[in-house]
Formats: sequence, structure tokens, C-alpha cells
Amino acid sequence: MSSSTAPATASAAPRTRTTRTPGTTGTPGRSDVVIVGAGIIGLAHAFEALSRGLSVTVVDRDRQPVGASVRNFGHCCISAQDGELLALAQRSRPGWLRAAEATGIWAAEAGTLVVARSATEAAVLEELRAERGGDAVELRTAAQTAALLGRADADAGDLVGGALLPADLRVNPREAAPGLARWVADQPGGQVLWGTAVTGVEPGTVHTTRGSVHGDRILICVGHDLDYLFPDVAEDHEVQRCRLTMARAEAPAGFRTDSAVLTATSMLRYDAFATRPSAARLREEVLGHSRELLDIGANVMFARLPDGTVLVGDSHHYDATTPPFIDERTHELLTAAIARVLGVERLRIVERWQGVYAGSSRGPLLVRDLAPGVRAVTVTSGIGMTLSFGLAAATFDGTLAATA
Ligand SMILES: Cc1cc2nc3c(=O)[nH]c(=O)nc-3n(C[C@H](O)[C@H](O)[C@H](O)COP(=O)(O)OP(=O)(O)OC[C@H]3O[C@@H](n4cnc5c(N)ncnc54)[C@H](O)[C@@H]3O)c2cc1C
Repeated sequence: MSSSTAPATASAAPRTRTTRTPGTTGTPGRSDVVIVGAGIIGLAHAFEALSRGLSVTVVDRDRQPVGASVRNFGHCCISAQDGELLALAQRSRPGWLRAAEATGIWAAEAGTLVVARSATEAAVLEELRAERGGDAVELRTAAQTAALLGRADADAGDLVGGALLPADLRVNPREAAPGLARWVADQPGGQVLWGTAVTGVEPGTVHTTRGSVHGDRILICVGHDLDYLFPDVAEDHEVQRCRLTMARAEAPAGFRTDSAVLTATSMLRYDAFATRPSAARLREEVLGHSRELLDIGANVMFARLPDGTVLVGDSHHYDATTPPFIDERTHELLTAAIARVLGVERLRIVERWQGVYAGSSRGPLLVRDLAPGVRAVTVTSGIGMTLSFGLAAATFDGTLAATA
């Protein structure tokens, strides 16, 4: 590892502690694989490694997952990807299903409903169906879309149609990473060290606030906080923090589908739609009627949780360091837009939070070999849930391209 990537604190790390500490599962030692970060990227890698018979230690500074992986929609948004990301997302799907079966976490083959409320929106969906085929993009009438949204009396109102993307999965972000972490800790070859911050890494050794952990292979899966450990690598990839306004609302009585719901602003953000011939016209159209939504980088979308509440969001603002404040106008714009899609006057909000994930203008993935046996894997786009198990499989197959 070059000195420019070695954190200054590495040599100051204390000796290995072998006592069990509150909130900590297992004791530091040696594993085939050491993974820094118990978010979905680290835990998908841990699941894949254990499935292949490798021993794994996962190290996280917190005492439960609280990062991007628990703050999102739990939407494995496979069909909305294009090119290499689509292939990786498709690879992720069986991994999620295997993990759900092994761990008992909820993963529904519920697909995504994309709502069309103008002829241009419907044209984008038809163009996607023409490219991908009717099995991958099932067009829906306005009345069918209204029924799926649970609108009163299946009132189509402003709907002109929609599409169901059946390959997509839904998971519960509140339980997926915690459930996977519990499963990892329960495996004979697995352990999770909570409340243990990593301060430095060198080949074969991870230095932590509780001593050193050793492994033949080290994976750094710390998401947007890569700059705290490897500032030069993060700067080189222009990693930024993207903050998103999110809320959880009571689901309107008729809204019962497990499918995630996307709208016009979503079509402008995901490549499968944004690369269609009618997408430029769609952007002009949305600019004309909903400029404020574009100004806050909105992806107006929502997804129901098994408890009957619905996750609603989101906006996108990019900074090097994240201000903690949630703008009320942003929240109002998003929730009003979602209420209109659901055909209700307003949503009753039960919870709000700010999500943060890694973004970059350099591309959606940072896969960097930092030293022999040391690799950083950060998804620098808002699709880490979607790609997680595909990335993990590719990592252990040796097919994930990395830069040195
Ligand atoms: C609001 C929102 C909506 C989203 N919607 C979607 C969606 O619909 N579909 C989708 O696919 N993706 C979505 N995403 C993106 C997705 O959530 C992220 O890409 C993904 O969760 C990143 O996972 P991660 O494991 O890299 O990061 P995180 O979940 O942030 O985990 C990183 C972990 O590393 C730990 N860590 C950091 N530094 C250290 C250290 N020095 N020592 C020890 N531990 C450390 C942290 O404590 C944390 O637990 C969304 C994200 C947000 C915020």
C-alpha cells in the first residue's frame, strides 16, 4: 500500500483484545476474510464468503447497522439499470433470494410499478418494452394502475397507464442488514465485531480501536465514509456524500401492493428509462410542470413495508460533508407529489430522516485494490441494495474489475 493511502493512525493501534465486550459478538483473531463495514455491501460479501466455506470477520464501528443500508426504500431496482449495471443487478437477484431463504429476512418478488401520467411518460415505458420485451416490461392500463395504487373506486384520474417490471425485488431495509449480521454471527466461521472502529489497514491486518484483526483478504466496505480511512482514494474517485430527504407515512387504506412505485422523476434518473428516445421530451415536460421537483433532485417514489406503513422520498443534494438539516419545503414537495400519485389529499407522516450515500461524477462503482489482498468496494450511486449480492458474487468469482 502506498504511504498516501495508509492512515496515519495505523501504527498507534492497541494490541489485540481477546475479551468479549458489550454488544460485541466473537473476539478479534484471524479469518480468511475480514470485512470492514456491516452495511449491505459488507454483509452481502460476508454471506457470499461464508456460503463458499470461507471464515469471515465483519468489523463495524457502530453497534447495529445505521448507515445507508437501513435508510433506503429496500428496492432492488434491477430493471431500471442498463448495460453492465443491469448484468450486475441481475446477478444480485438470486443472491438476495438465497440470503432471504437462509436468514429468514423478507424478500418479495413484487416487482416495480412505474406510473405514467402523460402520453410522454407512457411513450418512455412503451419504448422500454420494445427494447426489453413484454415479459420484462408488462404494460398496464390506467384502470389497472389505479387499482394497483389502491385509489378509491380505482379512480384513474390523471393516470394514462403504467408498467410492471416483474424482475425487481423488495426487501425491508429495517431488517435486511440487521438480519444478515445476526446470521453471519451465528455461523461457525462467522463473527461480527460491533462497536469496533477501524483506524488503519495494511496487508493481512486491520487495526481497530479494540486491537488488530487478521485476515488473508481484507474488504473495505465503508460506503460514503471511505474518505475517513483512505482520503486520497476517495478524492481520486471524487466521492461525495449525497443526502436524501426521507419519511415513513401511514399507507392509505387501499394501497396494499408490495411493488415499489416509480414516477416520471424516477424515469429521468435511471438509465433504462433515461436512455429512451422520448426521455429528452419527458425532461422538458417535467421541467414545465414540476420545476421545483427537479431543483431538489427529486426521485418521487414510494414502497410499502410489511407493517403497512410506506417509505416515501426522495431528494438528492451533494456535498463533501453532510449538513444535518432537513429542509421542510423539500419534505413538503415530496410528500405532496406522492399524495397526488396515490390519489389522497395528504399523507400522515410517522417518521422522518436523512439518508446519506456515496455519490461520484466518476462513475457508479469504486472497486480499488489498495494493497495485496486489500480491496475497497463502494457503490458510488444510489443502487447499493440493488447491486450488493451481484458485487459480492463477482468479488469471490474474481470477475469484478478493480483499478490498482
Ligand atoms: C435514502 C436512500 C434511498 C436509497 N434507495 C435505494 C434503493 O431504492 N435501491 C438501492 O439499490 N439503493 C438505494 N440506496 C443506496 C443504498 O442504500 C446504498 O448504496 C447502500 O446501502 C450502501 O451500502 P454500504 O454497505 O456501502 O454502506 P452503509 O450501509 O452506509 O454501511 C457502511 C458501514 O461501514 C461502517 N463503517 C464506516 N467506517 C468505518 C470504520 N472506520 N470502521 C468500522 N466501520 C466503519 C459504518 O458504521 C456502516 O455500518 C438508497 C440510499 C439512501 C440513503
